[in-house]
Amino acid sequence: MPNITSIVVISNSYTIIRTSSEDKDLQKKVIHKEELPTQINQLFQTSKSKCLEERELKKITRNLLKRHTKGETSILKRYQIKEEEILKGVICKECRYLPLIRVKGNWYCPNCTKKDKKAHIQALNDYKLLFKATITNSELRDFLVLNSAPTANRLLHSMNLRYTGDNKSRVYHLDDTVDLSNMSNR
Ligand SMILES: [Zn+2]
Repeated sequence: MPNITSIVVISNSYTIIRTSSEDKDLQKKVIHKEELPTQINQLFQTSKSKCLEERELKKITRNLLKRHTKGETSILKRYQIKEEEILKGVICKECRYLPLIRVKGNWYCPNCTKKDKKAHIQALNDYKLLFKATITNSELRDFLVLNSAPTANRLLHSMNLRYTGDNKSRVYHLDDTVDLSNMSNR
């Protein structure tokens, strides 16, 4: 049986790793991603047990992916920001004004008069990161400061989002990052 060594790798280089005790072993177990190549090399040199074969590695990979669960982190909770503190509306790329107004298939900026067809994509990406990965027609109208339900519908359909439920209870999934290239120019 080969030995299995576990390491916790922190991907954010700015994360400070600190332990309450002076546990030297723990410092080797929880590392920044920059230290990973060195650690792997050291393991190769010091470990006497044989490496896993490709077939075994593939099996482990499949198992890990099967058991993977997504981390749930609420940004608002983490920074103690209230939902009502978030400004609503589509933001102007040029002058950062919000909310932009929907006029004839464009987002129009009353401040700098710029027009943008796809400015709602950024707003929905923000929505996803701030609140949740699903949105209904009425939630979209509320967040984009949009009056018309048919316009909201057109926007939702133009993004080819996956949806579940019928009519009024229909929920659109923003989990796949909204892709600009998939957009039709409506
Ligand atoms: Zn503007």
